[in-house]
Amino acid sequence: MTVIKPQSKTSDHFDVMIIGAGLAGLSLARQLLLNSDKRILLVDKRSQIPSPHQKVGEATVQMSAYYFSKVLDLEEHLLREHFMKYNLRFYWKTAGRENRNFEDYGQAYIRNLSNIASYQLDRNKLEAEMLRLNLECPNFTFRKSVANLDVSLSDTGPHSLCFKTDGEAVSLECSWIVDTSGRGKFLARKEGLLRENPIRHGASFFWVEGLVNIEKLTDRSPQEIRLKKERAATGHLPIWLATNHFCGEGFWFWVIPLQGKTSLGLVYDNQTFPRERISSLPKLIDWICEEFPLFARDLPYRKILDHSSLKDFSYDCKQTISPSRWAIAGEAGRFTDPLYSPGGDLIALHNTLIADAILTRDASELRSKAQLYEHLMKSCYGAYVPSFAVSYDVLGDQEAMTLKYTWELTVYFAFYVFPFINDLFTTKGFIPVYFSKFAHLGLVNSNLQTFIKDYYHWKKFARQPASGPAFNDFMELGPLRNAESTFYRVGVSVEEAGDILDAQVRNLLELARFIVAHVCSIVVDDERALSNRPFVESINPYDVGLDIEKIRERYAKFADSREVYQWPFDPFVLQRFRTEGKKMHARDKLPKMLADGAPSFAGVGGR
Ligand SMILES: Cc1cc2nc3c(=O)[nH]c(=O)nc-3n(C[C@H](O)[C@H](O)[C@H](O)COP(=O)(O)OP(=O)(O)OC[C@H]3O[C@@H](n4cnc5c(N)ncnc54)[C@H](O)[C@@H]3O)c2cc1C
Repeated sequence: MTVIKPQSKTSDHFDVMIIGAGLAGLSLARQLLLNSDKRILLVDKRSQIPSPHQKVGEATVQMSAYYFSKVLDLEEHLLREHFMKYNLRFYWKTAGRENRNFEDYGQAYIRNLSNIASYQLDRNKLEAEMLRLNLECPNFTFRKSVANLDVSLSDTGPHSLCFKTDGEAVSLECSWIVDTSGRGKFLARKEGLLRENPIRHGASFFWVEGLVNIEKLTDRSPQEIRLKKERAATGHLPIWLATNHFCGEGFWFWVIPLQGKTSLGLVYDNQTFPRERISSLPKLIDWICEEFPLFARDLPYRKILDHSSLKDFSYDCKQTISPSRWAIAGEAGRFTDPLYSPGGDLIALHNTLIADAILTRDASELRSKAQLYEHLMKSCYGAYVPSFAVSYDVLGDQEAMTLKYTWELTVYFAFYVFPFINDLFTTKGFIPVYFSKFAHLGLVNSNLQTFIKDYYHWKKFARQPASGPAFNDFMELGPLRNAESTFYRVGVSVEEAGDILDAQVRNLLELARFIVAHVCSIVVDDERALSNRPFVESINPYDVGLDIEKIRERYAKFADSREVYQWPFDPFVLQRFRTEGKKMHARDKLPKMLADGAPSFAGVGGR
């Protein structure tokens, strides 16, 4: 039996043992090494770290990017070895066109680069760099090729564990155990913590050699590409640097540039998507070229570097942190869906909370922190679930998706990014304040997700498709700009943060009211509904549902009013999405759930 000794130390006791040297484990180790003198043992079952294969988790967004670049101090590495990311962009085919050319597609995007830089990660390079940096630290010990890992958790004393490495049996003790074993879910399996969630999505993804520059997938000449009129809306930044999403009902296909290669992947809802059509890589490529014909110019001729798939990747976990000094981060715990890339964000949040718990000496303080942090982890995960479980269909329409994403991004900027970049989640007294504000949004969010989904299905049956590609910048909607302004509120106290979040709750409720008012104005086919004061004021953001007849009845009551509702932003920016009604009685063809009468129309109870 061998006892591993921390490098340069004689003790056989580690402060923290981390299981799994992926994104979550390596970054937690780095965070602890940067902020403490804890002795850390990181183990992985693989013999090669990082593996040469494609690992998804390539796109970062503000929170994860801030974590890797600023908190983990990897900014220079990220700028040297990875591409800076140019936001998220979404594309839709145009009805009646062949969609063989890039310019056939409608686009929704944020034109300006975010003030918080984000990156497209070659995960293997990033993980290699984090391992290298961690190994420079004498308090860090790493063991690969670990097998037969067994852990015995203790409520009072140190945890004990044993494993085999290079044929040797090892046993030791540690104060904390953090499981970051990814889909291995080591602790969740062992402790009976596995839990299902309602998201049943799958993915199939691959790397190709070289850059797939989607703007070049066209008949246009290089000069025509440079001088195209659409640039008046889109500008000149290289759009291939974005996480580019080609969307359809219940699925999306990503195009992510990495240095020297491109990552491509399809994510789909198992309940609606014909999975058998993509059951092999050649079938997947055929499907992509058929669904989004511009790719037929490129993908069939590319050298494939790697391919993998996951049939059903989403799950919950009963508990991810305990006062008994164990925790779970990354995919070893909870995972929702990669749309909007929340995986890295949840790693950033969990690792930050776990590192803070590990550095808490007082047992009673640890108990109360563990309870708060568990609640926070659950809530931040749970808030994403309706976005993926309820309204994935909405990916099929640019306007409906714009409503959905603007809402979700506004919540994200104000309630995830702003507190995170201010270290507020680990500032004493903040979390109860946060929950008192965040709680306003749960019901509004879940109702809105259903409302937008119902609108999507109604629109499909009742309205003509757009006659040409539309271009819209999500930032045209004032509430999103308002939420983004919180990125410039830095170094705030808990009290100041509470005031800022109060203002953001008001901002979000006004956005919810706007979304309902906009949809109603389409349903009643009268854009004046959007500024009709008594009608808009009758919308209660906490009580939202799409019942077409009730909306029409209610508007009829107020239609003669000349009083104007004063929106704090321009409410007419989505007018480009107004299309003609179809020449039929919409109700004849409505999906059953709508025709039967959905939940009551917003407005019950008023403001
Ligand atoms: C289709 C898809 C696309 C995604 N895209 C994005 C994205 O664009 N952006 C984003 O932020 N997130 C994305 N994610 C999420 C992202 O992939 C995860 O957040 C991330 O990979 C999780 O990293 P991890 O460290 O938890 O797990 P991993 O990176 O898988 O690391 C786990 C490690 O644990 C080791 N291990 C497992 N079992 C044991 C054991 N018993 N003993 C020892 N070691 C063990 C493994 O060998 C491995 O090295 C995506 C997820 C999916 C499914």
